[in-house]
Amino acid sequence: MSRLIERPATIKSLRILGVRVDDVTMDQTIALIAAMIAGGGPHQIATINPEFVMAAQQHLGFHATLEAATLAVPDGTGLLYAARWQGHALREKVTGIDLTERLAAESAQRGWRIFLLGAAPGVAEKAAAALSERFPGVVIAGTWAGSPASAAQPAIAAQIRAARPDIVLVAYGAPAQDLWIRRHGAALQIPLGIGVGGTFDDLAGIRPRAPRIIRRLGLEWGYRLLRHPSRWRRIMTAVPIFGWAAWREARKHKDEW
Ligand code: UDP
Repeated sequence: MSRLIERPATIKSLRILGVRVDDVTMDQTIALIAAMIAGGGPHQIATINPEFVMAAQQHLGFHATLEAATLAVPDGTGLLYAARWQGHALREKVTGIDLTERLAAESAQRGWRIFLLGAAPGVAEKAAAALSERFPGVVIAGTWAGSPASAAQPAIAAQIRAARPDIVLVAYGAPAQDLWIRRHGAALQIPLGIGVGGTFDDLAGIRPRAPRIIRRLGLEWGYRLLRHPSRWRRIMTAVPIFGWAAWREARKHKDEW
């Protein structure tokens, strides 16, 4: 019998422009994931970043999906700033890529079966190979590239059912990945689905990550802008547009107090 694990009441959440963000650390996330896998699910983790917050303003189905997620982890320096402007603090960033790497390490220890779904043909396989090299013993239950188009769904369902994963990492980009998990997680008996964005591209070396110092300074967006200028529109949404909206929201609350 499958059991659903709820977010413990001890975990504080805050709202940034109406979107819930849970104040969890990586260690807490891993402990909860262990409970979710033991429970059976279907559970969902959303890796919230500023683009998610802005998209959820317009897309009510996406907003509802994020709201229903078991955990909404803070993936993005912008969220940490926004929380601070509200007078709260999020303790730690829990990004899709960091979570994926940590899950691979845990999988090697605990036998968690990880399925990689999405990204361009060949990328999930390359990401799996990179994880296997870095985390010997990681259990890759399967990989499947391609799109979330409904025509592809029967093949995806067959692959996932046969692979019996504990965790499905979905790299379709937001909101498609998160909507996919909500829609199919129960029918495919997926204990835990996590939307991880461009993580497979990062792991496969297609989109190298910024140097650690740049990441520490919260300037990964600047690095991405230099390397992929075509992303400028997305970066505008994630940085100045989100920043302005979140700052105004925080100011408004302060004025009301
Ligand atoms: N993607 C996919 N199918 C689609 C659309 C996107 O597999 O129909 C993949 C794409 O190849 C990439 C990921 O989804 O690996 C989304 O990456 P994005 O740049 O949006 O991630 P982020 O920058 O948000 O981490």
